[in-house]
Amino acid sequence: MTRIAILGSTGSIGRSAVAVVGTHPGRLRITALAAGRNVRALVEQAAHLSPTAISMASEAALVEARALLPPEVSKAVSVWEHGSRGLVEIATRPDVDLVLCASSGTAALEAVLAAIEAGKTIALANKEVLVMAGELVTRAARQKGVTLLPVDSEHNAIHQCLHRREPAEVRRLILTASGGPFRGWSPEALGRVTPEAALSHPTWKMGRKITVDSATLMNKGLEVIEAHWLFDVAPDRIDVVIHPQSVVHSLVELRDGSVIAQLGVTDMRLPIQYAFSYPERWEGALPTLDLAACRTLEFFEPDRAAFPCLGLAYRAMTAGRSFPIVLNAANEVAVAAFLDGRLSFPGIPALIERALEAHDREGACAPRDVADIRHVDGWAHRFAGHELAGVESKIQG
Ligand code: MG
Repeated sequence: MTRIAILGSTGSIGRSAVAVVGTHPGRLRITALAAGRNVRALVEQAAHLSPTAISMASEAALVEARALLPPEVSKAVSVWEHGSRGLVEIATRPDVDLVLCASSGTAALEAVLAAIEAGKTIALANKEVLVMAGELVTRAARQKGVTLLPVDSEHNAIHQCLHRREPAEVRRLILTASGGPFRGWSPEALGRVTPEAALSHPTWKMGRKITVDSATLMNKGLEVIEAHWLFDVAPDRIDVVIHPQSVVHSLVELRDGSVIAQLGVTDMRLPIQYAFSYPERWEGALPTLDLAACRTLEFFEPDRAAFPCLGLAYRAMTAGRSFPIVLNAANEVAVAAFLDGRLSFPGIPALIERALEAHDREGACAPRDVADIRHVDGWAHRFAGHELAGVESKIQG
């Protein structure tokens, strides 16, 4: 029996993970839940799963959830926590073997490091943790002998393709990208993109931030950085190919030119179950992939001029040190502003580029610990927020 803690249980990945556990009651059990602000969804999950520990983002949400839980469920919960301390507590519980990190943003960084320190297996669905702290996290995992299992569909695919291969056999990694809803659009048309249009993703149903990141191709950029840390492959040996059908989840090219791909239905329950069952393979509850129904699988070069976020991510990764932290933070500010109608779609890469350039002028650093990372992250948020205010006053003036 694998006992699981979920960080971000009410989000899209969290809910899929609960569904996967539900199909394997004899093998998997969820013992600890951490959620953000969705009290109703958390209460529903807890009533059904009866965890021993619950954490919510805020104290108010925790109090509300506690009051709504049936007394017999509530009695079984021995730990009630909130905030970042709550995430660390949930991730390090003695009755937890595997931690699924499915919360969005950077809040879970400390919790993931604490879970590694506590020797837990990590299933990682969150990109920001590796983008910000890839070196720290992978070094800690190596030192502790902890397994890092990628849940992001592309990295999960590459993990499957690389299974037991020698690093020297691998020539390059090829990440597939759906291309988002604006594939083939001209830069002029992209200037008129609305948040509503950006939020309608053609193949995957995901949270708002990551859906916008898919539309700008920043999601793929962050995934290139993620792949670099997970598989210890240099950025110039990681390629991106647009594949609108999202059937091939990613590929690995071997030394002799042979290419290994992983294919499957577009449902996150597949990579989640892989991470939960690894190194075993279990029967799943998903429909099999119907190749004849797919008919056509297309592949294109990404349009780097129309979607500059991808190039910015490569630039930040190649520059290394604290640049990926700035890339991620400036992108967070830019996407939030875009969703609020305060920044245009092309304004997103423009803002990120200014933040990277300012960081270069002010002096990048090699972060030694979480405090260093948080410091750079804070600087980049402030810089981007300040730039944004400048952009807005220019538009209003
Ligand atoms: Mg992905």
